[in-house]
Amino acid sequence: MKRSYIKRKQELKRVHIRRQRKSLNPIGKRGRENQKVCREKKQELLNLSIVTCEARLDGCTYDNYLSFAHTRKRRHMGKWESAERELNMKESACLCWNCHWNLEKLGEEKMAEEIRAIMARRDDLRTEAA
Ligand SMILES: [Zn+2]
Repeated sequence: MKRSYIKRKQELKRVHIRRQRKSLNPIGKRGRENQKVCREKKQELLNLSIVTCEARLDGCTYDNYLSFAHTRKRRHMGKWESAERELNMKESACLCWNCHWNLEKLGEEKMAEEIRAIMARRDDLRTEAA
């Protein structure tokens, strides 16, 4: 019996689904460092009750899609496991994806300035809380 076109089409579909089930790469040294620093930074922000975007530029999504924006690109963080690298990993602001992208467009140096300005505002919060 000749197989119908519809049946063949379903088989193709199944193959496609199976391909998508490839597992993710296991987490390595870099991933673990990232998780650890992220946990610490999140706790610090919670202590200052920062749970929304810190930049509030045009098109800000406020508390959706928050992530950390760093003053340096990951490849310029400094030598692995050095004190410099640790500092650079922590120098960051909590931004929504839109503000993050807007700052990213300014270029690396200007972005770093903006993020340092945002971090300076946190110091005011700290003194208010104390
Ligand atoms: Zn924002």
